[in-house]
Amino acid sequence: MNTQSNSNVINLESSAAKRFASTAKELPLLALSHEELRQLLSNQLQSTLDVQDILMMFFKISQRMISYDSLTYRHESQSVAVELGVLQKHRVAYNLNYQGEYLGNIVFSRGRSFTEQELGDFESIIASLIFPLRNGLLYAAALQSALKDPLTGAGNRISMQQTLQRDIDTAQRHKQPLSVLMIDIDYFKRINDCYGHSAGDLVLVEIAQAIQMQLRSTDALFRYGGEEFLAVLPNTCEADALVVAERLRASLAALLINFAGEEISITASLGCATLGSDDSLSSLLQRSDVALYAAKRKGRNQVQVAP
Ligand code: GH3
Ligand code: MG
Ligand code: MG
Repeated sequence: MNTQSNSNVINLESSAAKRFASTAKELPLLALSHEELRQLLSNQLQSTLDVQDILMMFFKISQRMISYDSLTYRHESQSVAVELGVLQKHRVAYNLNYQGEYLGNIVFSRGRSFTEQELGDFESIIASLIFPLRNGLLYAAALQSALKDPLTGAGNRISMQQTLQRDIDTAQRHKQPLSVLMIDIDYFKRINDCYGHSAGDLVLVEIAQAIQMQLRSTDALFRYGGEEFLAVLPNTCEADALVVAERLRASLAALLINFAGEEISITASLGCATLGSDDSLSSLLQRSDVALYAAKRKGRNQVQVAP
């Protein structure tokens, strides 16, 4: 089995898959009638809110009802992608909807084409997937939003603590470099004062987007405070982090933000710190903060490195 995706990667070697495998062993699935399998499917799918669990159960049980080899599920806007089994030549795809609400796209495949009867069977068993899947997607969205800053979509302080600690642990375990960039908008208060708070909010949104566009998919951006962001760059040494920092500084300085017919420009100061052998999460952040304040002191719109 293989998996792929970006942020919400569904790992099918996970505990969910293992948990289901042990449940499945206890169930003599082959001995069940079609109707009993349908009932089992419906009961099992309602037993969890985890999209990964739901699709895994659906895959295992529905394969006893219709012969097929692979199931692929995608929900782009929620960044969910699941691939179960080995993709084959003949495919049948369904867009899943509930009262106009898009719930993703599901594709089944196998080596020979599907019969009309089987297509009808798919439609009927997919019906049992709709509610559990919708609940799972709502749950996943709620979990996601609890970790996001609502204004900019960057990670919030809670997710920063979790992610950074995990990245520090990984870096120390595998002896890999890790750098962080503390980014603070210069004279941001003046933007609020000149153009109003809504303009300030818009600037924050656009800045977060501009920074995200410059980062790799393995990097992460968090809103650290009001107009302060933290970029976490795993597997990045000081020299590489400085290249990223300079690129960010230049792109922010070049940004023109249109608000009510006015073009607003900004600059930012950046403090760069690379994880040292004695560093903890708080000392790393503190060092990046010291570097940031050095950048402010030296005139702003520049990058400074923590000693
Ligand atoms: P410096 O160059 O020294 O960083 O100056 P500054 O004006 O950027 O820094 P200061 O800390 O004096 O002001 C930060 C301002 O950011 C003050 C606060 O009102 C504003 N701010 C914080 N959060 C938000 C927000 O969510 N929206 C808006 N519009 N403004 C915010
Ligand atoms: Mg500032
Ligand atoms: Mg600040």
